[in-house]
Amino acid sequence: MLAAELKLAGANPVVLERLARPSGEPRARGIGPLATEALQRRGLGELIARHDEAGRADKARDHGSEKAHFASIFKIDALERKSTLIWQVELEKILLEHAVGMGVPVWYEHAVTGLEQDEDGVTVRAGDREIRAAYVVGCDGGRGSVRKLAGFDFPGTAPLMTVRRVPAHIEDVSELPPPGRVEGGTLFYGHGMVATFDFADPDRWDGPITVDEMQASVKRVSGVDVTITDVQDGLRFTDQARQVTAYRLGRVLLAGDAAHVHSPSGGQGLNLGLMDAVNLGWKLAATVAGTAPEGLLDSYHRERHPVGADVLHNTRAQSALLRPGPHTDALRDIVADLMDIPEVNRHFGLMMSGLDVQHELPYECDHPLAGRPCPDLALTLVNGADARLSELTRDGDAVLLAPAGAVPGAVEVQSTGRDDLVALLVRPDGVVAWAAGPGDAYDTLDVALRAWSVDSSRVRA
Ligand SMILES: Cc1cc2nc3c(=O)[nH]c(=O)nc-3n(C[C@H](O)[C@H](O)[C@H](O)COP(=O)(O)OP(=O)(O)OC[C@H]3O[C@@H](n4cnc5c(N)ncnc54)[C@H](O)[C@@H]3O)c2cc1C
Repeated sequence: MLAAELKLAGANPVVLERLARPSGEPRARGIGPLATEALQRRGLGELIARHDEAGRADKARDHGSEKAHFASIFKIDALERKSTLIWQVELEKILLEHAVGMGVPVWYEHAVTGLEQDEDGVTVRAGDREIRAAYVVGCDGGRGSVRKLAGFDFPGTAPLMTVRRVPAHIEDVSELPPPGRVEGGTLFYGHGMVATFDFADPDRWDGPITVDEMQASVKRVSGVDVTITDVQDGLRFTDQARQVTAYRLGRVLLAGDAAHVHSPSGGQGLNLGLMDAVNLGWKLAATVAGTAPEGLLDSYHRERHPVGADVLHNTRAQSALLRPGPHTDALRDIVADLMDIPEVNRHFGLMMSGLDVQHELPYECDHPLAGRPCPDLALTLVNGADARLSELTRDGDAVLLAPAGAVPGAVEVQSTGRDDLVALLVRPDGVVAWAAGPGDAYDTLDVALRAWSVDSSRVRA
């Protein structure tokens, strides 16, 4: 995603990938409204939407609900801004084709093993090759090497639980308690799958999950000895929560899991990482091109670090609510009851999707949309034609919308589809940089255009 955004904004990125081919590991099952809209803005909306129906059926089968959840309390109602249920493997294929189709080179079997930066650039070692670049972004995941090689601080909290999920067969399944909360954590099984949320795991683990390891974990959480066979490649992860203290050290930046790791509870990681990439791409490209105003690149850390910190915060709360025992059961009952209150339910929905994000802008703008990710507005253009905002954003430029004759260079609109909005400036990453309602003055628009270095010749008109 980042490579494609950089390329679109005029930079020449190269992707170094450790593996020989995409891993095909089944991880996330979907993305939230923000990443969905980010992909729609680049013309990928239809491609991802094709997976949504099957994704919803998979989710209903696996969880008995299509609703989103907090700590496995599946009560969060859908919001008006839609998420997409697409398996991560499928999304990665779409993004790879998107980036490669734009001419981004992807060098497989290039594991980064060394990195040195100086005033003018960064030298990266990958195998016996040395690559020189103006900037390096570590998008190499929670265990990636860029963070370590560049010396980023990565403080956080140790795991409370280990989660394991494997395709496997249980011989004596009738011995087990029903799937759900059990004495040592949570146990799921069915549809050829076994999973445990294990709060009493004594060991640190590495390598593929073995039959013995899975049987021992089921015993720890449920208290029951079962025989498990046909264990296949699965997933093991913890809820350790860590985040770098700075997203940029000189010419090295981090995005995605490389910058933050946390429990996947509630499915927020992929969305968070994609939105890091979208926030960073245009800023880094402008910095490389020499057109960025002072501080533009640093606004990446300023805007994205708090968003990551909020996700760590809510995943820690979820781990607390997943702990076994009667005290947590009681707390869960109370939280589940609160979630029946519509305003509370909406609060959870906004928090888990990141729709509650509002960046501070370095100038005055009181409009409620200012600093927020812009929804895909249903516009009416001056000629009466209908258009979605996402149809005006394919080339990655900022978009300025205003009534006829109000602002030179703007896309002229009769209506933005919202009564409280007559004009707005949308940054390349979809954040509303400036907005005006009926009767509002336009006097901070110039400051906004300069603050984000929106070259008026590149504003979409
Ligand atoms: C079981 C599970 C379920 C999840 N469910 C969800 C969900 O429903 N929704 C959601 O939003 N998120 C979910 N997540 C989280 C999501 O999968 C991650 O947040 C996401 O994959 C992070 O993407 P990334 O690109 O930052 O890192 P990764 O996907 O880890 O990609 C890093 C890439 O860098 C490569 N690499 C590593 N080291 C090097 C090196 N030294 N040199 C070169 N290349 C290197 C790797 O091979 C890999 O291709 C889930 C995670 C798990 C484990």
